[in-house]
Amino acid sequence: MESAPKRAERELAVALVRAIVSTAPDRVRDDPALLGPTGATAWEEVLAGVVWDALGATTEAAVLLERGVNHLAAEPDPSLDLPARSALAVAYTHLGDVARAARAWHDAADLAHHLGELRQEATFTANLGFLYGEHDEPGPYERYTRRALELLREVGEPRLIAHALCNLGGALQRAGRTAEARSCYEEGLPLALALDWPNGHALYHAGFGGVLIQEGRVDDGLASYEESLRILTRLGDVWQHTRHQFIIGRHLVEIGRFDAAADRLEACLAAARARAFGSIEANCLQYLAQAREGMGDAAGALQALWAHLGTRGTEAAAHVADRVRVAELRLEAETMRREAARERVRSTELQRLNEELAAALAQRELLQGQLEALARTDVLTGLPNRRHQQAVLDGLDRAPALALALVDVDHFKTVNDRFGHAVGDAVLVELASRLQRCLRGSDSVARWGGEEFCVTMPNTPAMHAQSLGERLARVVAEAPFAAGGVSVNLTISVGIAADPTGELQVASLLQLADQALYSAKHAGRARVVVAPMDGAPTAAD
Ligand code: GH3
Ligand code: MG
Ligand code: MG
Repeated sequence: MESAPKRAERELAVALVRAIVSTAPDRVRDDPALLGPTGATAWEEVLAGVVWDALGATTEAAVLLERGVNHLAAEPDPSLDLPARSALAVAYTHLGDVARAARAWHDAADLAHHLGELRQEATFTANLGFLYGEHDEPGPYERYTRRALELLREVGEPRLIAHALCNLGGALQRAGRTAEARSCYEEGLPLALALDWPNGHALYHAGFGGVLIQEGRVDDGLASYEESLRILTRLGDVWQHTRHQFIIGRHLVEIGRFDAAADRLEACLAAARARAFGSIEANCLQYLAQAREGMGDAAGALQALWAHLGTRGTEAAAHVADRVRVAELRLEAETMRREAARERVRSTELQRLNEELAAALAQRELLQGQLEALARTDVLTGLPNRRHQQAVLDGLDRAPALALALVDVDHFKTVNDRFGHAVGDAVLVELASRLQRCLRGSDSVARWGGEEFCVTMPNTPAMHAQSLGERLARVVAEAPFAAGGVSVNLTISVGIAADPTGELQVASLLQLADQALYSAKHAGRARVVVAPMDGAPTAAD
């Protein structure tokens, strides 16, 4: 066993190196003798490793320390064995290499036990427990921490006891045994407070933060964590600061505050990556994936899980691979759901546009129909107008026996003059409907001009046309027209032309009817005249 002064000397040297590195890291970095000594002694290798670790170059530190420890196996130096092993275990712990770190802490604790270094054995056992805690294995975390606590109670050192109680609280808290965790913290806190030990104060703030969150006092818990972060920033303890960030993020995930959790974990991830804190990075990625899942960001979650698998490599638990598969399926489902929603929106929009178009077309057709009807119709009487009737006649497939009658109201001007235009209008409306009532289904009547009407009678010989004309004249003359409170007597004159041969043009037939009408007027009105097909029109009373 090493003498006490010798050991003190070694520890002082290590502390000195750490102090130099922390005050002037750049100058140390520039010193090639320290960075990678060749042909160095075990002592030099171990010191260089410690320097590297303090500089944050954890991977290089582990290589040097491993070399130093191997060197010591070949050429034992009892004074260096313990510090070398513990420095190596620290480096592996920082790297997150659980298997190597656990082996290194076991070796260091065994050696300390063998050397009768109770205090060291207790510290290393506590660190072993802590390592399992970092890797979410609360069982061994609790077991080794309790063992360390027993040893430390024997040593009787309040700072280490307080530290171990804080770790045990952490293990119990992880296992969901909040009340037991609280009592550990309550036992340890007075010890920590009695010491000038800021790191311990930070640890207890964090511990109580966790308990408060688990007890449902989330905001108080977060405030307590913030206090711990403040202390750690002041101390420049990047490792613990990063750890605590992660733990806060994990709490936030567990209570479903996914947005805040993601922010916290992303900040933590950046810090962990900058310092190669592999275990924190891996844990962080795993919980970041959960936070993103909770936020509905399936792609982000998957990315974090892939990164997690990348950091863990073959160490990745099977359940992470399962989660990756679940996240992939979820992402696929989410993509399909989004696509389907977009498709639904598209087809609803299309349907709406179609409906609008159909409605617009229907409206247009309706308006067009109305317009066409208006163009065909006389506004006052509702009868077909002259233009329409003319078009019908022009398009008529001439039957051999078409007859036409032109009807003109006698002395209609005097109706307007005596009773006014409005009465005249009403009389014309009533007249139109009387004429229409007399007609057969195949006949039609149109308003030809002011008070003139044209009756078309297909397949009608002159004699029949004449009797129809006389019926019209009778229907007008037999009863006065009642309009606007007055009673108006009317007669009409009718000129008829009938073409029994089908040889005449409509224009000629119309002309003949017009001549017949003129004859009727000339003969004294109120009569029907049929145009003779070969001579002067014949009038009848
Ligand atoms: P006759 O045919 O017997 O020779 O005499 P008349 O008075 O009917 O002849 P004329 O053609 O000179 O007059 C037709 C009148 O019909 C003139 C015009 O004021 C009237 N008239 C034409 N269209 C309308 C109308 O839509 N409403 C009214 N109230 N009067 C009309
Ligand atoms: Mg007239
Ligand atoms: Mg007239």
